[in-house]
Amino acid sequence: MMLGLLLARAGVDVLVLEKHADFLRDFRGDTIHPSTLEVMHEIGILDDLLKLPHHKAPRMRAQFGDLALTVADFSSLPVQCPYIAFMPQWDFLNFLTRHASRYPMFKLKMEAEVIGLIEENWHMVGLRATTPDGPLEVRASLVVGADGRHSVVRAKAGLPVEELGAPMDVLWFRLSGQTGDPGDPRAASTPDVSSSC
Ligand SMILES: Cc1cc2nc3c(=O)[nH]c(=O)nc-3n(C[C@H](O)[C@H](O)[C@H](O)COP(=O)(O)OP(=O)(O)OC[C@H]3O[C@@H](n4cnc5c(N)ncnc54)[C@H](O)[C@@H]3O)c2cc1C
Repeated sequence: MMLGLLLARAGVDVLVLEKHADFLRDFRGDTIHPSTLEVMHEIGILDDLLKLPHHKAPRMRAQFGDLALTVADFSSLPVQCPYIAFMPQWDFLNFLTRHASRYPMFKLKMEAEVIGLIEENWHMVGLRATTPDGPLEVRASLVVGADGRHSVVRAKAGLPVEELGAPMDVLWFRLSGQTGDPGDPRAASTPDVSSSC
């Protein structure tokens, strides 16, 4: 979506295909990092982004038994927003979609699942997808596979995966927060909807 926005902004005809009907997936985190916020600033949409409900976290703290550690401190970074913004990923993706859609060069087709590439004379010249309206064939000068870790585009292009190994596992779960919990922004304020850093 981000690449689609940047290309459309640069005047390139873009078609983004998304196999799902929406971006409401809840299995990922919702941290938007200072570097990402800086890019939003550079392309002039940061103020709009910060109008969406979010929490600001200039520091990340962890408690190990009796030991309280600051594991990350973004507050002195030389950027517009020296903090992590917590925002549901679907809000961010819908926001990018809204901004990309302002450009006439940008098109998004939901419920369009890429199933194969079109190859001619050793060149990839497009792709095939399924949609609720039937099969779709798209011809393009450039096909970008940004279809996640089980990328169909990567597999169909015959690109091998290089396993780098992961030095850690992440256990991801939902925990209800109570007003007054240490570090809970709701203890101090309502969600931050201010439009400045
Ligand atoms: C548990 C977890 C927590 C994370 N937390 C954070 C975080 O807090 N902050 C952060 O910045 N990053 C976080 N990440 C990393 C971040 O989610 C990924 O880096 C990012 O989503 C990768 O983006 P992507 O566009 O490459 O792939 P994806 O986000 O996987 O997007 C791929 C898209 O392609 C679509 N798609 C798949 N196959 C097809 C097909 N055949 N045809 C059409 N569409 C298709 C999918 O539906 C999906 O919308 C987290 C990741 C995990 C697993």
